[in-house]
Amino acid sequence: MSADLIYQPGILGDAEFLELEKKVAAQLAQKRLEATAAAAKRRDEDQARREAEVKFHTVTVTTRPEEAGTPDEYRVVDEVAFTCTAPDDAECRSYPECDCESWTWNDDRTGDEWGHPRVPGRQCWLAGWFDAEGAIYAGINGDEMRDDLIPARDFSGPIITTWCHEWVEWEFAAPDTRADTSHE
Ligand SMILES: [Zn+2]
Ligand SMILES: [Zn+2]
Repeated sequence: MSADLIYQPGILGDAEFLELEKKVAAQLAQKRLEATAAAAKRRDEDQARREAEVKFHTVTVTTRPEEAGTPDEYRVVDEVAFTCTAPDDAECRSYPECDCESWTWNDDRTGDEWGHPRVPGRQCWLAGWFDAEGAIYAGINGDEMRDDLIPARDFSGPIITTWCHEWVEWEFAAPDTRADTSHE
C-alpha cells in the first residue's frame, strides 16, 4: 500500500480500494513527472544563461615567478581580473536594487520574491566576487596547489560561472588542453 494513501479498513470494498489505490499511484506518478520536467527546464534555462554569459564575461589571469632565478622557480597567480561587457539589460546587470543577500525571481522575472523590482544597467553582479580581497582562484590554470600539478600560467578567456547558493564558481569556457598530458 502506498504511503500516501491512508485507509481505514472496512470503509471501502476491495475493488473500490484497489481503484482508489490506482488513482493515487497515477497522481503520484504524474506529480513526479511534472517535478522531473520542471527540474529539466530549470537546468536548460541555467545552461542557456551560462552560454549567453560566455559572450560577456572574461577573466585574465596574470602570474609572477616565485623563487626567481633558482632551480625551484615556479609561477603563482598574481592577479585575477574580471571584465563584463554585457549590455544594460543583460541578466547579470539587471537585478533588484535591494539589500537582499540573494533573490528568487517572481514568476514573470520582473522582480524578486519580496517585490523589489528588477533594475537594468547595474554593475555586473559577478564583479564583486572577483574584486573581493579574499577571492580565491582555484579553477583551471590555477596555481601550484592544483591536484594535477600543472603550474600557473598567464591566461585570458571567456568564463562560465555557476551560482552555488552561497558562492560563485567559475571556470574558463575553453578547457586547458595541457591537462591531457599531465598524467603520463
Ligand atoms: Zn530584494
Ligand atoms: Zn556580467
